[in-house]
Amino acid sequence: MCRTIRTAIRCEPLAVRDARDWIREQLTELYPSIDTAVVDDAGLAVSELVTNCVRADAHELTLSMIAHRFDVVVATTDDAPGVPHRVTAPPSATSGRGLQIVEALTTEWGVSPGDGHKTVWGRFSLTDSTRCSFDCDR
Ligand SMILES: [Zn+2]
Repeated sequence: MCRTIRTAIRCEPLAVRDARDWIREQLTELYPSIDTAVVDDAGLAVSELVTNCVRADAHELTLSMIAHRFDVVVATTDDAPGVPHRVTAPPSATSGRGLQIVEALTTEWGVSPGDGHKTVWGRFSLTDSTRCSFDCDR
């Protein structure tokens, strides 16, 4: 069956590395022949998403992945107040470009507000030749 997996992430700066490592491991396991560029892009997108959550002072953070045969969605769900906006940061800015990076890396991305939490997600398309280790009913 299609796979939905999630993990709780600590809300601290080092969590960014843990989150990136986790998503890379899951992708490599679920898609044995996945293009390493996709793994790198997804790892970078997750790093940006988790960085946003940590900077927004989230207390609870969940990283999730919804895997299908031809695409995979990575997402962070956190309890920080407010909804992130994609801002156009000046080239000299050291922050504020997270969602621009996510937009550039993903096929599609978005923010889904919830009750007391929000989810920011990004979709990655996979090539026809990418093998996956599970059945997908799509
Ligand atoms: Zn599926």
